[in-house]
This record gives sequence, structure tokens and C-alpha cells, in this order.
Amino acid sequence: MNTLFVVGIGPGGPEFLTGEAREALSRAQVLCGYTVYVDLVAPLFPGKETYTSPMTKELERCRWALETAQSGRDVAFVCSGDAGVYGMAGLLLQLAPQFPAVEIRVVAGVTAALSGGAVLGAPLGHDFCVISLSDLLTPWKVIETRLRCAARGDFCLCLYNPSSRKRAGYLQKACDILLEEGRSPQTVCGWVKNIGREGQESRVLSLSDLRAEQLDMFTTVFIGSSTTQEVNGRMVTPRGYEQKCGW
Ligand code: SAH
Repeated sequence: MNTLFVVGIGPGGPEFLTGEAREALSRAQVLCGYTVYVDLVAPLFPGKETYTSPMTKELERCRWALETAQSGRDVAFVCSGDAGVYGMAGLLLQLAPQFPAVEIRVVAGVTAALSGGAVLGAPLGHDFCVISLSDLLTPWKVIETRLRCAARGDFCLCLYNPSSRKRAGYLQKACDILLEEGRSPQTVCGWVKNIGREGQESRVLSLSDLRAEQLDMFTTVFIGSSTTQEVNGRMVTPRGYEQKCGW
């Protein structure tokens, strides 16, 4: 049986690869994925065959990987962050019944919520929701309902795909929904751009300031719950020890 490893490579350079991901990449004969991600890891494994395709060719890339594995080679399909979080692991597993000779192994990676959270401090120290603002595959109505529900539950929110050229203004719309649901304009928020890559930048700011930011698709956004604080410039959502232990 040939193996198709579906590998989350973390947010950026090789220092974010887990040991398991490194092992899967070195076992594979072929590395495939979106060009940018293959280019990030290929130099670590010189001499391996690579297959890359542009952003919009997801289905084609998945089929190519499954066909290549079926024809007798071990393949690593690389995704940024974690392959199961807005990545290709799901689609590959959905297609897998058509390729019975291929064993799929999903290898966990560090998703942007976690790597970006670490840059800002500890924004996800209590219950949180992850919502993508991309309406390419999800109707905006659904996204809006989820934002409202997260606001009502006083979850800390981590937003993926906050904005792009075609979707300018989505982050503002999301902030307006949260404000409408009663989240304070002073809520502590943050964003991190190019996590683990050249040009990494981050900022801790209020929800009303976040509303005015022009961010791009290489950014992950964090919106605090009512308990989130700024401590020495870091974003912290307390777990509650300070109350229990009474300091
Ligand atoms: N599978 C990826 C997510 C893909 S969706 C993961 O688990 O991280 C793409 C979105 O993820 C981007 O729009 C951005 O919001 C976020 N993201 C992924 N990598 C990032 C990085 N290096 N820096 C900042 N945001 C990132």
C-alpha cells in the first residue's frame, strides 16, 4: 500500500515543522502542494521530485497526489499551518474511496491560531472560536450567524482569511456585527501578519481601532472576549487563576 502523507508544515520556515512532519517529508518520494508552501520546505529535502500548482487548482492537485500515490510512489501533500484547518486533508479524505490502494496519513501542524496567538501572548487562554471570513465556499449569511453566536457566547475569536482584494471591507463588517451584538469597542484585539515568515508584524489594539485597519490575507486576527486584557503590550485571556487563587 502506498502512503499519501497530508502534512501541515506550520506557519513559516522549517523551525515550525514538527518531528512527525519532518519524518513524513523525508519518507516521501514526491512533495506536492501550492507553490509557496512547497518552496518553503523543498530546500530541506534536496533532490526530491516536486509538483506544484497555483492557488485555485485545489481539486486537480488533490487528484494528482492520489493518482501518483496509487501508481506506486509515496507522496507528501503539504499545507500551511495544519492540513485539516481550512486545508486539503478533508478533500483528500473525501476523494480517497476512489483510490483504494492509497493509505492517507494526516500529520498535524501548528495552525495560525496557535502560532499567531503565541506572537501576541496568550489570547486563547479560555474558550475560543475560529471563523474564516472567506465566502468563497461558505455563504456570508452563515459566516454572519456564526459571528453573532460567538459574540453571544462571549468567545474569544480567531479570524482566518480576514480580507483580500476581492473581499475588502469584510473585517469591518465582522467588527460591526460584534459591536451590534454588544461587544465593547474597547475589547482587546490583535493581529499578526506573516507569522514565522519574513516581514512578521503584529499589533495589539482595541476593537474600534481594528475596525479601521486595512489587513491582507496573510494576517490572522484575534478578537478578545470580555475578560481579555492587555498586559505589558501582550494580549492575554485569563483562565481564571487570579480569581481562584485570589491575588
Ligand atoms: N491551514 C492553515 C490555514 C489556511 S486558511 C492553518 O492551519 O494555518 C489561510 C488563512 O490562514 C490566512 O488568510 C490567514 O488568516 C491564516 N494564516 C495562515 N498562515 C499564516 C501566516 N503565516 N501568517 C498569518 N496568517 C496566516
